[in-house]
Amino acid sequence: MSDITRMTPEAFCGFLRERNITRFYLIWNDERQQVVPSHPELQPLAALLQEDARDFDRHEGVFVQLGPETGTLQGAFVHRTCRGQAAGGVRFWTYDTVEDYLRDGLRLARGMTLKNALAGLWWGGGKGVMARGTGADASDPGVRRRIYEEYGELMTGLNGCYVTAEDVGTSVEDMAAIFSRTRFTTCIPASLGGSGNPSVPTARGVVRGMEAALAHLGLGSLAGKSVAIQGLGHVGEPLVGFLCERGVGRIVGSDIEPACAERLRAAYPGLDLEVRIVERGDCSLFAEPVDILSPNATGAVLGEKTIPHIAAKIVCGAANNQLEDPESDDRRLQERGILYMPDFLVNRMGIVNCADEQSGRIEPDPVFERHLGDDWENSIYNLSLQVLAEAERSGATPHRIALELAEERSMEHHPLQGHRSKRIIQGVARSGWAGGASLDEV
Ligand code: NAD
Repeated sequence: MSDITRMTPEAFCGFLRERNITRFYLIWNDERQQVVPSHPELQPLAALLQEDARDFDRHEGVFVQLGPETGTLQGAFVHRTCRGQAAGGVRFWTYDTVEDYLRDGLRLARGMTLKNALAGLWWGGGKGVMARGTGADASDPGVRRRIYEEYGELMTGLNGCYVTAEDVGTSVEDMAAIFSRTRFTTCIPASLGGSGNPSVPTARGVVRGMEAALAHLGLGSLAGKSVAIQGLGHVGEPLVGFLCERGVGRIVGSDIEPACAERLRAAYPGLDLEVRIVERGDCSLFAEPVDILSPNATGAVLGEKTIPHIAAKIVCGAANNQLEDPESDDRRLQERGILYMPDFLVNRMGIVNCADEQSGRIEPDPVFERHLGDDWENSIYNLSLQVLAEAERSGATPHRIALELAEERSMEHHPLQGHRSKRIIQGVARSGWAGGASLDEV
């Protein structure tokens, strides 16, 4: 049998169909200290996780299905749920291999654990990942709606151990399709009682992270500063607006979509704004001599190849998992005298926006606004200052300090429900959700 981890997601879907596998799981078993697969044929996937020390972190459960009608590969990655249900967005993205698909889900889910814990939310960390190019053609609006309905059905089947939301490649309309099949989603449209698109609050939070970095370095306010923004999408575009309000002197942005240049120039006519259209994967913007570099496109952009070219003193953006190698790239940035604001410290506002959706709406909502203010000790600004001060005192990187704090907080149990989602996960596995064997028998 060929190595299934190296297959393309599309070929892997064929592999599953040939074996009549429509759903599977990979669950961490504490007693055995092992990743347990639902099907023996999927042992290579369990082994990949088990033997990996970088992206796998005893994730409580990975649940994958082939969309019953569309055939799309759809997954829910649950990392740690001590603080409550795993929460994080669902991504619809292209992957070269099954390994890439799994690694992205694992990394993103862990990032959500850290982010939710630092934000003080009673939520664990999880992420949804769907592989573009598998199953039916998603460019057909009817198919697309069905893909998201199927994703909602997946959420319902998982009994609430994971609550999904919007992410890269998905829209509020997609969330409405999910919501038509499950209660376990957030970011649904305001017309259905939801909180809508989380990106504008995310941009507001990133601005507060930038302000904390400038304050820590004694560089004053954002007024008159220059900022380079990679990615002018849902977060990057409103970020331009908020920086403009703060009196930023110059902005240079990049994106791979030519249409965004016109749109931004029209939206901010008086601003010194340059937009460069680049190829996918291009990071030439990083060499721009600016005060702040803000990555708001894709992850893993800060690495061995890019860090030597960065001209800014501060890196602060919304993109998840910016460090290519979290074990060494934070140190690499520090050695170059660059202050890196950990993504999971400053990009929390999207998920904060989702967090209170169930509890009713208040405009403005004090529980939401305190994250963006100066008064609450755990606001983005204050927690960032605390992390930066501790990093300076100890000589550790801000990434390391934020990581340790987030890890510690992520182990705290939900005050009312304890580690309930872990029991939900075991219940789903024992119920025969994946067909074939149940957790007890594997
Ligand atoms: P988006 O897809 O709307 O925007 C990303 C933009 O980056 C797109 O316009 C894309 O064309 C562009 N892009 C891709 N590669 C590029 C490159 N090499 N150079 C320049 N531009 C490039 O996504 P978004 O919602 O704005 O999120 C941006 C990042 O922030 C993602 O990593 C996301 O995971 C993270 N994030 C978003 C939120 C949120 O609320 N939307 C919250 C937390 C984290």
